[in-house]
Amino acid sequence: MASISRRGILALPLFAWRPLAGSSSTLRPNILFIMTDDHASQAMSCYGSRVNQTPNLDRIAHEGIRMDRVFVTNSICTPSRATILTGKYSHMNGVPVFNRFDGSQPTVQKLLQQAGYYTAMIGKWHLGSNPTGFDDWNIFPGQGVYNDPVLYDKDGSTQYKGYATDIVTDLTIEVLKNRPKDKPFFVMSHHKAPHREWTPDEKHRKQFEGKHIPEPANLRDDYAGRTDALHEQQQSVFRDLTRRDLKIAPPPGLTGIELARWWNAKPSEVEIEVDGVRQTLTGKALDDWKYQRYMQDYLACVQSVDDNTGRLLDWLDASGLRENTVVIYTSDQGFFLGEHGLFDKRFMYEESLRMPFVARWPGHIRPGSTSPAIGINCDFAPTFLDLAGLPTPGDMQGRSFVPLWTGHKPADWRHAMYYRYYHDPGDHNTRAHYGIRTETHKLIYFWKKNQWECYDLRSDPAEMRNIYNDAAAQPVVAALKAELLRLKKELKDDDQYADKQPADTSYVAAPSPKKN
Ligand code: CA
Repeated sequence: MASISRRGILALPLFAWRPLAGSSSTLRPNILFIMTDDHASQAMSCYGSRVNQTPNLDRIAHEGIRMDRVFVTNSICTPSRATILTGKYSHMNGVPVFNRFDGSQPTVQKLLQQAGYYTAMIGKWHLGSNPTGFDDWNIFPGQGVYNDPVLYDKDGSTQYKGYATDIVTDLTIEVLKNRPKDKPFFVMSHHKAPHREWTPDEKHRKQFEGKHIPEPANLRDDYAGRTDALHEQQQSVFRDLTRRDLKIAPPPGLTGIELARWWNAKPSEVEIEVDGVRQTLTGKALDDWKYQRYMQDYLACVQSVDDNTGRLLDWLDASGLRENTVVIYTSDQGFFLGEHGLFDKRFMYEESLRMPFVARWPGHIRPGSTSPAIGINCDFAPTFLDLAGLPTPGDMQGRSFVPLWTGHKPADWRHAMYYRYYHDPGDHNTRAHYGIRTETHKLIYFWKKNQWECYDLRSDPAEMRNIYNDAAAQPVVAALKAELLRLKKELKDDDQYADKQPADTSYVAAPSPKKN
């Protein structure tokens, strides 16, 4: 009998599961890669969410594996997408900020296509150039919109009636139905949701309307002991959410630039109506209300992703594609859901760094598995290639997850990952930084300011106590610095810290109005 464990993961007795014969090199399974934009793992119930339930996303974990330490190498939309396609860090693929992706470079989809896979890309692309290496593609221009979105393909654009998450799912199913049946497929299905400004559809908005969402313990973090970066950021739930984010209706008569200014203002008081009585919220009451409004809309957007993922899984299963299709669900990075008082990403703190990552491959991944191995988004391309029986090219900077999925973790698997964020000055005034995360610690260097933070993740998983200057921490700080330098060199990120400041002028944001 299967049973549900405390964390909601399906536990099966050992004898119930046997791997199927054959390796991926002979099986060449189909690959369905579902990715959302800004979905934090702490808003996914198989990761222990306190704020929502995601039964359909959990289903992938229950029937496959939940990876607990998959990290983004640069926590922002466009760079993460470039890394996923190239298997390379931002400094190697030309996309550290919002740079236009050079589609002539080698990518995983080209290699799969050359190896006989049918390749398709649906939904949010956001790389500033048209997709290459896909037999079919149909993408949002730039960021795309939630309602009645336009998508375009090589023949032109079409406006679709309805909600973006439903439409991306519909188009993914259509592509799967119409695919050449004599080839395995690699299909990327990329949602816009739950990206800012978190616009839900009516069904899910109602589901979360007025629902009280528990606050994270460090929503009111005072940043004591931390460096300037947290003090200077402009992604504060209490300070920086706009009227547009909070869905406050404008007064009648505003148009054009006046209306835009009104939407973009960050309100210090808000009038609401409760049981027919108007009241003005300020101070803590307003702060509390802003967090609730933010989370209600964010979670409602996630719920539509969950419903649609269930619909897609059902379609796969009913179409006989269950057995030889690897289904992966992830997000382009994590997100802050009020932790440290924040609502965005960019920082190397856990909630932004960690990507949700679950995968199902019946007969090959033991149902209900978990993995604590440190993975990075550079690993995705080598994983897809490995599934197709292809080697990892020497210039890719990741390695395949497939051995981790099948219970054969390599003895030399990494114990630390390197991270770097560049966009400074940029949106939300988040300072450029780089650092490493090991299985137990994190070291962050805000290199433009020569300021450091260090956390012991075993005793301080919420990263509230910066131990960088603690006398007792100096041996571990020194070891982390040495490992950081080693990793930087190994990954060919050539500039050094401390005595030799990096020249940030080499990274110039593309002159594009599109935001991440
Ligand atoms: Ca994103």
